[in-house]
Amino acid sequence: MDDCIFCKIAQKELSSEVVYETNEVIAFRDVAPVAPTHILLIPKKHIQSLSQLEKNDRADLMPKMYDAIDELVKKEGLNEKGYRVVSNTGKEGGQTVNHLHFHLLGGRSMQWPPG
Ligand code: 5GP
Ligand code: ZN
Repeated sequence: MDDCIFCKIAQKELSSEVVYETNEVIAFRDVAPVAPTHILLIPKKHIQSLSQLEKNDRADLMPKMYDAIDELVKKEGLNEKGYRVVSNTGKEGGQTVNHLHFHLLGGRSMQWPPG
């Protein structure tokens, strides 16, 4: 998608600190981190949000997302203390970039409920 910043990051038209990459998935550090570890995981393919994730994409993509999370959790040393994975979806979900992404947050104690 032409005007999508995450598509541009996936295509390396916009720079970012990439920490994981396969043919389908890329992960990079959030530009405005809210925790010591704040990584965004996205499908390279433009999908607007979880609510636009079709069944065949779901079956294909989600195991790859979990593989990425698993590897990054190990790399960042988060397994023991814990971490949070969240996908803000739509307006009331707090989504500001309309390309499906998962935040991987760790390195500090999280609060619940989120704001
Ligand atoms: P959302 O609010 O949609 O759940 O998350 C979007 C996230 O993308 C925010 O945490 C924001 O800081 C991050 N972000 C927005 N623009 C950029 C960018 O150009 N580069 C990087 N690395 N992160 C971005
Ligand atoms: Zn996109």
